[in-house]
This record gives sequence, C-alpha cells and structure tokens, in this order.
Amino acid sequence: MIDLHIHLDGSLGERELNALAAKQNAKTRVTYPSSPPDPEGGLKAYLERFRLPLSLLQSPESVYHAIMLLAERLEKEGLEYAEIRFAPSLSTDTGATQSEIVSAASFAAKRSFERGFPIGIILCCMRGGERDANLETLRLAEEYVKTASGIVAIDLAGDEGRFPTEEYKYIFDRAREKGIPFTIHAGEAGGAESVRAALDMGTKRLGHGVRAVEDPETLRRIISEGVTLELCYTSNLQTGAWKGGEYPLRRLMAQGVAVTLNTDNTAVSATTLRREYELLAITAEEREILSANARKAAFKNKLLEND
Ligand SMILES: [Zn+2]
Repeated sequence: MIDLHIHLDGSLGERELNALAAKQNAKTRVTYPSSPPDPEGGLKAYLERFRLPLSLLQSPESVYHAIMLLAERLEKEGLEYAEIRFAPSLSTDTGATQSEIVSAASFAAKRSFERGFPIGIILCCMRGGERDANLETLRLAEEYVKTASGIVAIDLAGDEGRFPTEEYKYIFDRAREKGIPFTIHAGEAGGAESVRAALDMGTKRLGHGVRAVEDPETLRRIISEGVTLELCYTSNLQTGAWKGGEYPLRRLMAQGVAVTLNTDNTAVSATTLRREYELLAITAEEREILSANARKAAFKNKLLEND
C-alpha cells in the first residue's frame, strides 16, 4: 500500500504529540479530541484540528522527530512508500526559518530512507498564506527537488472554500517554469470549477478532486490529461466534501480515471490506510490497480534513484 496524500500535522496522534511535547520539556499531557470533526462544520471545522499539532511543530528538531515518528508508524502498518506533506511556513511562529524547517524535513527523509522506509516530502504552500511565505516555500522546493533530498514536490493546501484556487496561479506558473513537480488540493470544499482552475495550471495530480464528478466535462479533462486523483474517503465524509450516496471511487475507476486511495490525516480522521481499504471493501484486484496508480503517480524521488 502507498499513501500519496498524508499530512504530517494531521497525522500525529496522542502518542506522537506527547513524545514531541516531552522532547520540548512540556509538563502537561497532551490530550487529543476523542471524536472526529463534525461534517456540519465543513472543511473549516476540520482544519481547526490542526492547531494543537502545529503548536508542537515550531522547531527544526520537532519537525524532524515528527516525520520520523510518523514514518516509523507507517512502516509498521505495512506501507511500502508514503509521500508526507506539510507547510513549512506554518512552523515559523517562534523564529525558525522555512529554510531550517525544510532542511530538517529533508534530513528526516534521508534518515528514514537509510533505515529502510522510503518517504517523499511534499511542501505545502498555503491558501490564505502570505505571498512571500508561499514564494519562499517554492524557492526552497526548487533548491531541494533537484538533489537527493527526499523533497519531491509542492502542493496548495488550506481553506479552499475561502481562498479560490485561481488566486494561486502565481505559484504554479513559476513551478512549471522551474520544473518543480506539484499537486493541488482542489475539488474538496470547492466544486468542479476549482478542479478546472487546478487543471488549467497544469496539475497532473489533484488532492481529493472528488467533486469533479459534478461535471462530466471536467471528468473528461481529468481522463484525457492523465491526471491522478488522491482520494481520501473518511476525510471526505468528515469535511462534507462528499455528502451521502455511494462514494465514487469505483465509478471513477470504471470511467478510466487514475484513482488512488489515501488517508489525508490519520489522526484527525482517526483512520489508517488499511482501514480506508476495508471501509470501501476494496478487493484484491482493485487494490492492485490502486497501488499501480499510486506507483505511477508518485513524484520522482531522487533518494531512490541509485537504489
Ligand atoms: Zn489534504
């Protein structure tokens, strides 16, 4: 199994958060909310859950440890590969620079690879984030993706409902120009129009993209442009991105869309990749297809090149 869409902050459970808090000499025990976010609150309520983990990800050391803890857990769960994403601009509240944070993330990816579990790191630019901060994330991606750093691509994350995809064209115009691979969260809180905006920017992967099913023409474009969807079932129910009715994973596969199944946030959504496969009763044959799609869509990871 491969997870191409898993956020670092949203995948740190109580155990990992307490390990991070202990390393920071925090005296109080961290308790994680016991119930998943209410779909009524939409993506906004879901994103509220990131406050606590982010407060513990404010130094290069903590980002390094968090990635190592998550990678170790994913390896134990039986994954063969994962692309872990996070926004370095959200780890600078107490004075660390994005450059220091990305360097620590790269170090963690290299260490995990040496230990035998390969990971790629995707750097998220933020909807609603400062333009300069997003451009700095992009600059660092450019610097790192060319080397065997484990940093593989950029993404656009955050509140799609409030900050439309089109406003971030400046990021992806430059990413294309500089040859930085990317994926874009679209078609989660936003509808097919958001997916079209991401396609117009030349994306070959869509974070979720599930709401593309609202528009047959957009779906046709996804198929003809060979775009891969990073579907996240439980998360899509919890954010209200998918409301009722049969989840369209099989329908999309049948239509010829390259679909992958991922977790998004194992802690916020209280899930694992295995559980996502079980909830959708994925057959052995479907599993092969999903894994093949994920292997094909995974970003080039220079750590693996001389393997
Ligand atoms: Zn996501």
